[in-house]
Amino acid sequence: MRADIVDKVRAAGIVGAGGAGFPTHVKLQFEVQQVLGNGASCEPLLRSDPYLVEHQTDLILKGLSTVMECTNAGKATICIKSKHDRAVEKVKHIIAGNGFARDIDVFELGDYYPAGDEFILVNEVLGKIVPEGGIPLNVLAVVCNVESLLNIAGAMTGHPVTDRYLTVCGEVRHPIVCKVPIGTPLDELIRLAGGSSISDYGIVIGGPMMGRVAASGQEPVTKTTSGIIVLPPHHNVIRDKQKEIERMRFIAKSACTQCSRCTDLCPRNLIGHSLEPHKIMRHLAYTPGMDGEILEDALICSECGVCEKFACPMMLSPREINAVLKQKFLKEGVKRESKRQTFNISPFFDTRKVPLKRLMERLEVTKFDTHPDFYSGEFKVEEVKIPVKQHLGEPAQPIVRAGDRVKKGDVIGEIPKGALGARVHASIEGTVKSVDDDHIVIHS
Ligand code: SF4
Ligand code: SF4
Repeated sequence: MRADIVDKVRAAGIVGAGGAGFPTHVKLQFEVQQVLGNGASCEPLLRSDPYLVEHQTDLILKGLSTVMECTNAGKATICIKSKHDRAVEKVKHIIAGNGFARDIDVFELGDYYPAGDEFILVNEVLGKIVPEGGIPLNVLAVVCNVESLLNIAGAMTGHPVTDRYLTVCGEVRHPIVCKVPIGTPLDELIRLAGGSSISDYGIVIGGPMMGRVAASGQEPVTKTTSGIIVLPPHHNVIRDKQKEIERMRFIAKSACTQCSRCTDLCPRNLIGHSLEPHKIMRHLAYTPGMDGEILEDALICSECGVCEKFACPMMLSPREINAVLKQKFLKEGVKRESKRQTFNISPFFDTRKVPLKRLMERLEVTKFDTHPDFYSGEFKVEEVKIPVKQHLGEPAQPIVRAGDRVKKGDVIGEIPKGALGARVHASIEGTVKSVDDDHIVIHS
């Protein structure tokens, strides 16, 4: 049975919808004790996960049951913030009424950041600590985003991943949560949300904490695009994401007071990991080059951004620096062994959680924290540009050529033999316009 489920999930091209896009069929191959359905949507302003829990409850629970069956887990928990009361009530009601054969319950999270980080979630719900550089499987748990669970339910009936639910907010006329074909240009999303309310803007893909600034409105939606935020080009969220490493290093040298607040509030440090961002800042400021054992600690940084957006009184950017260091070390194949065997949660873990309200004030995005409409209809788009790499691992190999006719759901990119990866599928019906190393363009 497990092999059958894993095959269907692999065939459907499912990847972790809430993170870096780890291919889901790989993590379903192991036995675990507990499955966590992650509906935390902890990034400020993003809301598609709780909306899905409220509007697609049956399918999400079906996906959760499937994962339990596949991993032989005895228990599963849907994790969602208490503040999303309608979603909490709905899922509790359905669990109670349907008499699930399996042991499924709901865990209500507080409104803090980063409640949806897998490591924090595992600690909060199960009281276990995922080791440095590890994954939840190390503590016999598997965490699946609720949209991935929805996709898993779809895969069991032969439906591949062709669409993505996401939030469109910020400086748009009608903020929405909607479902769009993968490969849809970001400009089309803004149009769907009634257009931008300002003439000059930048687009953040993902949340204000962990997202990045889009190069242009022509960038496509991928399987991991949880939302876009339209902001004025000079808004601090956009500005901070465009700093250059040398400039950050120069500023760190002159402005870092070594107060260690970034370390005190670092969620990974609070669960006992040996990450101390203030030491990375100190090393970078006073040592030439970008090497040194302490810098390799960047490899265990989640890039949550608490240090940069909330903790640092000098508005420095340990997170951006860690992100650059991580890329460098990953490219060089540097492996960082865990420095600790046991991990002790800080006694300050609860008191140092970052309240979302205060975080939004700090980010100056409170005015965009509205309740967007849920647009559940099918969105038609003329052309999609589907990336062959929307996941961790190797890019998919295109199996179509320019001029081919495709139907929605047809496989257009296959996982290279023996590699870690995910299939890609046509997200609309039409003719393949072009195929290159990065994208497959389909015109309807
Ligand atoms: S981004 Fe900063 S706060 Fe978050 S894990 Fe990395 S060092 Fe810690
Ligand atoms: S919080 Fe800012 S000033 Fe303080 S040690 Fe960290 S980077 Fe330096």
